[in-house]
Amino acid sequence: MNSKLESPFKVNFHELPRRAGEFRQYHLEFSAPQAIGIALLEIPKSEPLDISFKAESVDGGVLLTGEVISHARGECGRCLDPIEFDVNQKFQELFLYSSRVKEVGEDEDEVFSLDGDIADLEVPIRDAVILAMPINPLCQSDCLGLCSICGLKWRELEKDHAHKASDPRWSGLADWKP
Ligand SMILES: [Zn+2]
Ligand SMILES: [Zn+2]
Repeated sequence: MNSKLESPFKVNFHELPRRAGEFRQYHLEFSAPQAIGIALLEIPKSEPLDISFKAESVDGGVLLTGEVISHARGECGRCLDPIEFDVNQKFQELFLYSSRVKEVGEDEDEVFSLDGDIADLEVPIRDAVILAMPINPLCQSDCLGLCSICGLKWRELEKDHAHKASDPRWSGLADWKP
């Protein structure tokens, strides 16, 4: 039995009666076993994850409704400065009893199923965290990014910062301002 719980994302619902309407509150706190996120922004490995949810028995399975709280770090997509991001994302997911999954014959990829009384929350939590993250993380919404020629931050450059257009390939860029 214990070997099935080696992942901290796995929860055993043996205490939850399989009678529609019954529910229990659950609270998980553990360190992320792996980073969760996108290329520019992630909850780093070992960062605390705080997951609280209600598990409710419904016809054929268990409905989980809750939220995940953590902290992500990454870099601005324009200027590459370090940024931080508070993750506080609600989620709702239905886990079907494995017997019910066979009954309804749904594609196993599209439905979460319980392994006995055990649900693996890793994919739903990962999906919720990624959904919470901005597609283009920025240090501030109006970040000006970097000069495309010298790579310095526009924020730290003079307003009239420019490069001599000695190279004809850059002639069009010399007057360029963000
Ligand atoms: Zn930036
Ligand atoms: Zn420059």
